[in-house]
Amino acid sequence: MSYDDQNIFAKILRGEIPNVTVYEDAETLCFMDIMPRADGHCLVIPKTPCRNMLDASPEQLAACMKTVNKVANAAMTAFNADGITLQQFNEAAGGQEVFHLHFHILPRHEGVATRPPGKMGDMDAIKSHAEAIKAAL
Ligand code: 5GP
Repeated sequence: MSYDDQNIFAKILRGEIPNVTVYEDAETLCFMDIMPRADGHCLVIPKTPCRNMLDASPEQLAACMKTVNKVANAAMTAFNADGITLQQFNEAAGGQEVFHLHFHILPRHEGVATRPPGKMGDMDAIKSHAEAIKAAL
């Protein structure tokens, strides 16, 4: 399987479609998921191309994990969360829908289930959740 540079996250990286950015450094970008399954649901991606964990380089994975660690701790603080669910899917059979490596960060609270997938979030709420994480970074 090869990398298709027309995927939605490649377009976000090129600035062709908007995103709500939480954090970025030279190697990674973290932005809000537009169909959040929990308040504060955001995604960490490498700035360089790879489909998923299977073709990623150790450097891409290490850079993503560094950002995941940073943002997840900020999200714990921002949402007074009890935990974090980290999700990452590989190829369609593995549940992947967008074929640029990404890690889902979901702040969790004891006894609260995640929301069902596929439902657009409220953009004002998503923006305010991004601001909360940024303030905690
Ligand atoms: P996965 O590939 O891991 O199954 O999920 C892809 C994720 O990308 C989903 O959680 C979906 O809500 C999110 N997503 C899909 N299209 C867009 C988009 O245009 N912008 C943003 N920010 N997220 C998106």
